[in-house]
Amino acid sequence: MNAKFIRKLALPEEVKEMYPASRETEKAVEDAKREIERVIEGFSDKLILIIGPCSADKEDSVVDYVSRLCPIREKVKDKIIIVPRIYTNKPRTTGEGYKGMLHQPDPKEKSDLFKGILATRHLHMRAIAETGFACADEMLYPENYAYLDDLLAYVAVGARSVEDQQHRLTASAISSPVGMKNPTSGDYAVMLNAILAASHPHTFIYRGWEIESKGNPYTHAILRGYTNKHGEPQPNYHFEDLIRLSEMYEEKNLLNPAVIIDTNHSNSAKNPFAQPRIIKEVLNSMKLSPEVRNLVKGFMVESYIEDGCQKVGGNVYGQSITDPCLGWDKTEKLIYEIAEIIS
Ligand code: PEP
Ligand code: MN
Repeated sequence: MNAKFIRKLALPEEVKEMYPASRETEKAVEDAKREIERVIEGFSDKLILIIGPCSADKEDSVVDYVSRLCPIREKVKDKIIIVPRIYTNKPRTTGEGYKGMLHQPDPKEKSDLFKGILATRHLHMRAIAETGFACADEMLYPENYAYLDDLLAYVAVGARSVEDQQHRLTASAISSPVGMKNPTSGDYAVMLNAILAASHPHTFIYRGWEIESKGNPYTHAILRGYTNKHGEPQPNYHFEDLIRLSEMYEEKNLLNPAVIIDTNHSNSAKNPFAQPRIIKEVLNSMKLSPEVRNLVKGFMVESYIEDGCQKVGGNVYGQSITDPCLGWDKTEKLIYEIAEIIS
């Protein structure tokens, strides 16, 4: 191989021995998973709100952000299940740029993947211990999921990974709900094929083992908008988009048709301030059509302490260094507005 082998990394079991999950943590994760699963199955009509920064760049500001959600959770818990986004690894369109805490535990320093593995586990554990929230992360590297599998309540497969077989097979072995995003081209069939693949058992190679998965019935769709042939962002959260997805789901005969609407990325053309308007439009579509109401299970929102974003190396506390986010005051207002609209 044309690479230098830097060092052999600790196995997931070894890292878990260094940072073991407590019994309270395990319970928080299991409870959160079950609550989300009940919504995906249609037994609960609460809305799932996966919300937080585009990238979890610093432990302190991320835990601060998640802590701010605690008093809101108490007030909206009969209607909304809040699942904080703690995204510790970032896909990059050209491979350039900040690749997340996993690669760079300090965004200003160069890559250190061993430190990164420990930092991401430490962050998820600290968030649960201090706030009781079990969180969502993206599975960018299927083999690394094993370092966090006991801590995550929700897993997303990103737009650039959803067509990949190893992601699909690994999702079939995951014991929490998995959201499959539509690919950047916007092709619904790719996303639905990913859901179909992950919902069935498979035998495959995972971290040096031949394993047999059980299949994951809680795999579902996430619509994040797409890019057209001119490279322009296009939304896919409008009424017609949702009806089309519902019809395509029906053709596939999947057990739990479900979609989460990602309100940033190509849906907002990365204007984070469009997110509240997008949510309100979708809530209205849900009121107009029982078919849409049954399909839409919630939202994914990019939000942090400060509005917008800054360059990597910027010193604004709690401001995104990847996609622009909705700041805290607007976020708080938005969650209460959603609760009000659906009550
Ligand atoms: C994200 O959720 O921040 C992200 C990178 O999403 P996508 O895969 O939809 O681009
Ligand atoms: Mn993002």
